[in-house]
Amino acid sequence: MPLETLHDLWVHELKDLYSAERQLVQALPKMAKAATSDELRTALENHLAETEEQASRIEQILESFGESPRGQKCAGMEGLIEEGKDFLKEDADEDVLDAGIIVNAQKVEHYEIATYGAVVEYARMMGHTEALELLEQTLQEEKNADQLLNQIAEGGINALAERDGNEEMEEEAEEGAEDSGTKARKSSSRTTGMKKSSGRSKSSKARN
Ligand code: FE
Ligand code: ZN
Ligand code: FE
Repeated sequence: MPLETLHDLWVHELKDLYSAERQLVQALPKMAKAATSDELRTALENHLAETEEQASRIEQILESFGESPRGQKCAGMEGLIEEGKDFLKEDADEDVLDAGIIVNAQKVEHYEIATYGAVVEYARMMGHTEALELLEQTLQEEKNADQLLNQIAEGGINALAERDGNEEMEEEAEEGAEDSGTKARKSSSRTTGMKKSSGRSKSSKARN
């Protein structure tokens, strides 16, 4: 179908979002199941319920314009979900795993926010008032989901993930003389990103 008008583009992006939301409905339970923090798992499960609702809003909008929501695949969401799945295969410590699930979920939310931002704006320009209301509601939910993930990360999971790394590095320092085997090498490469932080020197001083 050739795209000639803003309305055509709007329908195109709504179909893309519909596919994105449907893919997420499949992926979110896997991310929730992998999470070790109850708070994170609950947040992901709640967003799953919202995601189902968001998909049916798009269905409702497109049907009201005589369009089918089906027939398009969101390649961007497919890639993000693929990346999230690959991450779950990493050999990550509990808190590092949770912090990683959060960042992967936030990539998804930001991606959704970009397209919802556009379709909200188009709906406003074209005066599709009912659709605008529904899409604004979804956009707000996506922003809230992103914010909540920030809060969960900043409220402790990032710090726990950092502490895990520090403990391991200290243990390795002690073991280091006797054992320079694969385990030590593997986990130190996993924690290199955290070396620079101030938290680390504080906590190692406290324990010495
Ligand atoms: Fe969504
Ligand atoms: Zn897409
Ligand atoms: Fe979302």
